[in-house]
Amino acid sequence: TVGAHDTVTLAGEYGTPLMVLDEVRVRENCRTYTANISKYFPSGSMAVFASKALSFKSIYNVIDSEGFGSDAVSCGEIYTIDASAFPMEKVFFHGNCKTGEDLAYAISKNVGYIVVDNRDELFALDAIAREHSKVQKILLRLTPGIDPHTHAKISTGGIDSKFGTPIENGQALSLLSEAISLSNIKVCGFHCHIGSQIFECDPFIDAADIMLGFVKTAKEKLSFDTEIVNLGGGFAVRYVESDPEIDIAENLKLLGTHIKDVCKNLGIAEPKIVLEPGRSIVADTCITLYKVGSVKEIPNVKNYVAVNGGMTDNPRFTLYGSKYTVVNASRASDECDFVCTLAGGCCESGDILQENVAIAKPVRDDIISVLTTGAYNYSMASNYNRFCRPALVIINGDDIRIGIKRETFEALLKNDV
Ligand code: PLP
Repeated sequence: TVGAHDTVTLAGEYGTPLMVLDEVRVRENCRTYTANISKYFPSGSMAVFASKALSFKSIYNVIDSEGFGSDAVSCGEIYTIDASAFPMEKVFFHGNCKTGEDLAYAISKNVGYIVVDNRDELFALDAIAREHSKVQKILLRLTPGIDPHTHAKISTGGIDSKFGTPIENGQALSLLSEAISLSNIKVCGFHCHIGSQIFECDPFIDAADIMLGFVKTAKEKLSFDTEIVNLGGGFAVRYVESDPEIDIAENLKLLGTHIKDVCKNLGIAEPKIVLEPGRSIVADTCITLYKVGSVKEIPNVKNYVAVNGGMTDNPRFTLYGSKYTVVNASRASDECDFVCTLAGGCCESGDILQENVAIAKPVRDDIISVLTTGAYNYSMASNYNRFCRPALVIINGDDIRIGIKRETFEALLKNDV
């Protein structure tokens, strides 16, 4: 069930593959952040939803009503946020490759903050803001040089990262000194993001130390007063039973209290802290339901259960070997004694959703459910093999509504000429 709704019934009514999102859980996850940020962090601190985890129009209404801002990494995300009537002054625009058109678009949409990745972008933005007769608020994206012990492909805070400007070799300070001299830029502070799916609080504490140390340097060397330090996202979620428990409320308490202490020790004014959670807001709010197309047993080798989705709606196993919990929803109370590989339907050997999972042995047409699929699934979906992207339904107590319609064959052709 999701909420009190039976998933097999939902699959019958709305078709498969189907994503089922629990709005109540999204709101609970948001409140863990807002409540603890207001309790433990410097005044004016806030949470911002990382759009890349799951971007569609009505999710922005939910997070807006929970007092969140939003980030965006592309003009497509900005467009989606704007279409939901979200307050654009609460949007942070990221990205390591913003073209002139991207920057002009963000300015024209009145995006609150542009997070400038590097020197090239800084000067381009100043010129474009001038053309628009605007002074654009920015943060500088800095790399604190932290290894957060997560998967290399989702680790972003090292000096060699494609994101940001390094602190440790002095480039960040030079960038700041140039940025504050520009007339169509207002530097409000600094941003960093060290990686994703991080279970411990220590890497965030280390990042905060380095960023606050930089705040002090900026004050001492350039008399710069920092208004905002954005520490990015990255708190982990549990995908499988063996993942460690994570207490986000406790981590926020530790982090917020630590930040206040560090500011005191360094003798700096407390900046507003922005956090940008994505995964921990939506991952555990959603499951994906598939229909079994075939069960294939290769004696003494392997069993395959093939379902009518795969890397087109969830490429995370293919990309990172990510773990998921799998349940045969049609036989939820049967013994889980059939060890199999859950394969997608694409013409690609790597199109696997999970290896070696034990589920109740399915037959054709059973409904298989993959749990914790709210983050980086739909947002990474594709039309490979001209698969249509799934529908997403939102459960809110008794109420069920469509958040994203199932993609149609006609939609597949809409750009073909
Ligand atoms: N902020 C930035 C700049 C990111 O790159 C990411 C994810 O990679 C996030 C926030 C969200 O991270 P998470 O979904 O792990 O909370």
